Amino acid sequence: MENQIKSEIHKKMPEYIELLSRLVAIPSISFDNFDQSFVLKSAETVKQMFIDAGLTNVQFLIPPSGRPSVYGESLTSPDKPTVLLYAHHDVQPPMREKLWNTPPFTATQKGDRLFGRGTADDKAGVITHLAALEQVRKQLNGNGPNLKFIIEGEEESGSAGFEKILKENAELLKCDAVIVADLGNFAKNTPSITTTLRGMGAVGVTLRVTKAPLHSGSWSGPIPDPAQALCRIIASLADKDGKILIPHYEDGLIPPTQEELDSYKSLGMTEKIFRNDGGVLDQVNLNVPEDEILISLWRRPSIIVSTIESGSRVNAGNVLQDSAYARIGIRLAPGMDAQKCTDMLADFINAQVPNNMECVIEKEDGANPFVTDTTHPFFKKMSDAMSDAYGSPTKFIGCGASIPGAELFRNTFGNIPILLTGLEDPECNAHGENESLYLPDFESGIVAETLFFAKL
Ligand SMILES: [Zn+2]
Repeated sequence: MENQIKSEIHKKMPEYIELLSRLVAIPSISFDNFDQSFVLKSAETVKQMFIDAGLTNVQFLIPPSGRPSVYGESLTSPDKPTVLLYAHHDVQPPMREKLWNTPPFTATQKGDRLFGRGTADDKAGVITHLAALEQVRKQLNGNGPNLKFIIEGEEESGSAGFEKILKENAELLKCDAVIVADLGNFAKNTPSITTTLRGMGAVGVTLRVTKAPLHSGSWSGPIPDPAQALCRIIASLADKDGKILIPHYEDGLIPPTQEELDSYKSLGMTEKIFRNDGGVLDQVNLNVPEDEILISLWRRPSIIVSTIESGSRVNAGNVLQDSAYARIGIRLAPGMDAQKCTDMLADFINAQVPNNMECVIEKEDGANPFVTDTTHPFFKKMSDAMSDAYGSPTKFIGCGASIPGAELFRNTFGNIPILLTGLEDPECNAHGENESLYLPDFESGIVAETLFFAKL
């Protein structure tokens, strides 16, 4: 059956690429300052695709922002497991349009890649689910698992209403496992299941000393400098190698298992590749040795100053500034809690404010890290299906970024398997200019999901 599935899907690829191109043509950018009618239009297009694919109970689930998630289902039998399939139909803005080599909202094939905003992130996820549904129906004569689809409309703008949608529709969406097709492969032709995500948080800190900037000749000396005070506080947060110095900050951290460490090692990440991908200057040393790069990226917290401001470069004169501001971002490793870590960071900063300066700390909403237990048999089934589809062994990887949805699914449905897959790869440039999808992996991804359903 495996070969038949592969050849059927291969024949249908032009059609699946055409469906994907139809979605890419809609600039469904879910940011307030863009025309939100396109998000509605893409939701309607997904809805029509659901109806055309024979899904039933097709409907919009609308969050407070009005950017619909689209739901549909294909139920076979109460005796079969139910899998909820997630992807999102909204996209990031095109960024600097003049840097695109092809029109961002016209899917354009060049060689083995399809260029266009949303090709990889995450409209390919939508089509992968629909294509796998079509194939599993054909191959198993309606004997496949129950499949429920939820395609979100505001992932790129922060999924603000997604928790509400999940809570209010928990019964409708009830399932035994979730596939979140919004991540990617470690490299081309390297099937990957992401098993951990880092969390995040941030605080904005403002130190204020005077009512307005002052002539430094007339006033500096007796009056403390807020910029220096803020720099001293920032310098106390971590040592020169990036190790966080806030006491007990890493309590609760879940270290990687030996299996995970072995899997990371098998990926062959080298310092050379990493430096090159990140554009690190030749003379700059990394914070960690080569064999700790992926562990540092996926399984340890980090703290960075994403903005620092006091006066402005164009107006830099002999001025004692009235205030200084920094936005300090944190990435949290599995086992850490976003709220707790944000509070600890704020308290640590507050305790060091000198000279009784005015200090205002604004905490941003964070996202918790995510770690999944891979011992559930569905992981083995998915990993086998992916290995067969790609013709290459499946890797278990981590991800340094955050996807709030993963934890929301966990909170809603309990400890069910959440399979994080997807079709991004290191060259896909999701969120940047010239986003693209590697088409051989698109095909393998559809085969993998079909084989997975067949194994259930
Ligand atoms: Zn995405």
